Formats: sequence, structure tokens, C-alpha cells
Amino acid sequence: VIVVLLGPPGAGKGTQAVRLARALDLEHVSTGDLFRDHLRRRTDLGEAAESYMRAGDLVPDSIVTAMVRERVADGTRFVLDGFPRTLAQAQELESFAPVDAAVLITVPDDVLRARLTGRRVCAVGGHVYHVTEHPPREAGVCDVDGSLLIQREDDTEETVSRRLEVYREQTRPLRDYYALDSRLLEIDGTGSVETVARRMAAALGGIPALPS
Ligand code: ADP
Ligand code: AMP
Repeated sequence: VIVVLLGPPGAGKGTQAVRLARALDLEHVSTGDLFRDHLRRRTDLGEAAESYMRAGDLVPDSIVTAMVRERVADGTRFVLDGFPRTLAQAQELESFAPVDAAVLITVPDDVLRARLTGRRVCAVGGHVYHVTEHPPREAGVCDVDGSLLIQREDDTEETVSRRLEVYREQTRPLRDYYALDSRLLEIDGTGSVETVARRMAAALGGIPALPS
């Protein structure tokens, strides 16, 4: 079972992917998280991705696809968060992990900007918070593992604008790609995390490969 979550940066893909993975017993794979982990470990892959991520641009397809291919090699049940992001990635994915459903989470730009600039992430485990929408119990500290919460380097006003533009140009066309053979499920990503989770569960309810 392969479910992909599509949507602009800040739509809530990571937030929903964690819940969906738990609910449906899927492995959660976030390409952004994988890259940030490589960056922390200063691997060659991390070095290759760094300048693109810092600028809010996409990492070249060949690099991302090789990383995902390796990650999904030993499993069958995944929710992919942040991949695919280009038509080339989507086509390549079909050759090694055909997608059952693509859930597009839509959110207006002004809400996205507020979500991204207020996002804080745990420096160790990648747990995601928001300064006002989803604050931790103790300011600046992760509820789950007690690590320091930091602001992502690419969650600044300027880089956010670039990332939204990149989304519109390169990723948004995937909507038509998955709609063509009826694999697209489009949901409204506004409202509370629970509301969006319910919409997603309802949308996925009709997919035969998934338990209802
Ligand atoms: P993405 O993975 O699509 O970039 P995230 O899941 O990291 O998005 O969410 C972006 C920010 O918005 C985070 O700070 C998160 O806590 C917050 N957020 C996610 N879903 C909601 C929601 N339904 N309502 C309000 N804030 C949300
Ligand atoms: P995310 O955590 O999903 O917001 O991703 C952070 C950054 O990682 C993006 O802005 C890109 O630079 C890079 N990235 C993540 N996933 C992909 C992908 N599928 N294709 C290209 N670049 C990606």
C-alpha cells in the first residue's frame, strides 16, 4: 500500500502523515526529514542537498528518487510525505512503488505563510509544533523527547515565498497526473488537525487496498 500526501509546504502533510501512519500501520517516509537527517550527519547526500534546501528549491530528481528507492526497498506499506514533488519523480515512483492513492491537502497561501513562519521543530526527533496553533507544554521544549525546539532555516518569510512558487510551478501539476486515473483525493486542509484527519480518513475510506 502506497499513499502519497501532496500539498504546498505548510499544508500539514507531516502532521497528518504521522497520524495516518499510526492509524493504518504504514511506515512514514518524509523526504524533507531524510535530507535533514543527512545534513545533520554531514553525509555526501546531505552536502549535495544543502544549497537547494537553503534556497527553497527542489533537490534534483535523481538524488531524491535514489534515496526514496533505497528507503522503500524493504517494505510494502508506506505513507510518503513530500515525495513525489515533480512529474519525473511521480513517473519514476510508479516503476518501483505504484501509488494507490494521492491525497492533495489544499490550504490558502495566507494560512500557509502563518503556519510555516510559526512552525517549530524538535532538533532531535523532528516532532512538529506551532507557536500558537500547536504549542508544546513548555515553551521551546519538545513534549515527546525534551529536546530543544528550533525554527527551520527555510521557514523564513523570503524562503517561504520561493517554496510556494516552486510548489505552484513544479508540484501542483501532479494533481492532474493522479486525477487522470482517479487516484487523486482532494481535501480541505483548513480547520483543526483533528478535522483534517477526519476528512482524510473519510476520503481514504473508499480505497480497497486500505482497511476501512
Ligand atoms: P508540511 O509537512 O505540509 O510542510 P506541517 O505538518 O509541518 O506541514 O505543518 C506546518 C505547520 O502548521 C506546523 O507548525 C504544524 O504544527 C501546523 N499545522 C499543521 N496542521 C495544522 C492545522 N490543521 N491547523 C493549524 N496548524 C496546523
Ligand atoms: P519539506 O520538509 O518537505 O518541506 O522539504 C524541505 C526541502 O527538502 C524542500 O524545500 C526541498 O529542498 C527538499 N525536498 C524534500 N522533498 C523533496 C522532493 N521530493 N524533491 C525535491 N526536493 C525535495
